Amino acid sequence: MLSYRHAFHAGNHADILKHSCLTLILSSLLKKDKAFTVFDTHGGGGLYQLDYQGLVHTGEAEKGILKLLEHISQVEPPQSLTTYLELVKKYVTQGMYPGSPEISKAMMRQQDKLFVAELHNTEIEILRGNLSILDKRKNQTPSISIHHESGFSLLKSCLPPLVKRGLILMDPSYETDSDYEQPIRALSQAAKKWETAIIALWYPLLIHRSQQLDNMLCQVAEGFSLACRHNGDRKVITAELHIAPATEDQAAPRLYGSGMMILNCPYLLEEQLQENLPYLVQALAPSQGSWEAREWS
Ligand code: SAM
Repeated sequence: MLSYRHAFHAGNHADILKHSCLTLILSSLLKKDKAFTVFDTHGGGGLYQLDYQGLVHTGEAEKGILKLLEHISQVEPPQSLTTYLELVKKYVTQGMYPGSPEISKAMMRQQDKLFVAELHNTEIEILRGNLSILDKRKNQTPSISIHHESGFSLLKSCLPPLVKRGLILMDPSYETDSDYEQPIRALSQAAKKWETAIIALWYPLLIHRSQQLDNMLCQVAEGFSLACRHNGDRKVITAELHIAPATEDQAAPRLYGSGMMILNCPYLLEEQLQENLPYLVQALAPSQGSWEAREWS
């Protein structure tokens, strides 16, 4: 039974990290005219209302994207954050925040192909409705294929894609133990079938899940290096944004930050994140926040 609804959390610090990484990766793919493919394995609803009562109640957009947009009017953001900020601003001025499938749809071109999976019975209908809205600002939209199934099984059946430049974005809700286990197998199989794919895995930072998280990240990196061992060095990085210190609170386990693991990391992405992350800490959590970006060997 899936109970997570992204509408309660849209535009929070975790979305800012994930979606700013996504726009940087898409920008690097857009540098060439050649088509590319994106798999978004956990799509969510695609587009979110900032005045939705559930989101207003959690205050997550207020402490996240709204706070960041306020900060950029006072302190100039780094160049590598501007694509994300410009894109998001267009939605926020209309009272909305774009999810990952909407961001891909907005940035991708006619020659590109977007696959999105969503398992939740209600979310899939919301996603279908949102992705069918025509973008009047854009005369080119990618071909979009929406699947009401598990993103893990979508990868199994659709890889490798016909067009072999591209990205897998994996953003599970981490509601269950299996969300820490399934990415290991799914991504090592994906890397075997589609060696050149850039893979971006989002993960939450929660004290009570730290062992499971370490295990997942180590095994994903190991599976990837085994899958690509005949193909030279492939760069793996993790980038984390911490909005609070990691302190134990058994009564109220809380998300103190999140991270992205990027496999087949595009050229200059690590440097761009090293520029963006300190700015995001200053904007969102100046007294308690911190960041980290490192290459895995
Ligand atoms: N990626 C979205 C974004 O950035 O806007 C947010 C996705 S939300 C964190 C995770 C979503 O995955 C939820 O909508 C949940 O219903 C869905 N989900 C959970 N398990 C899934 C699975 N095995 N396959 C596909 N979707 C799943």
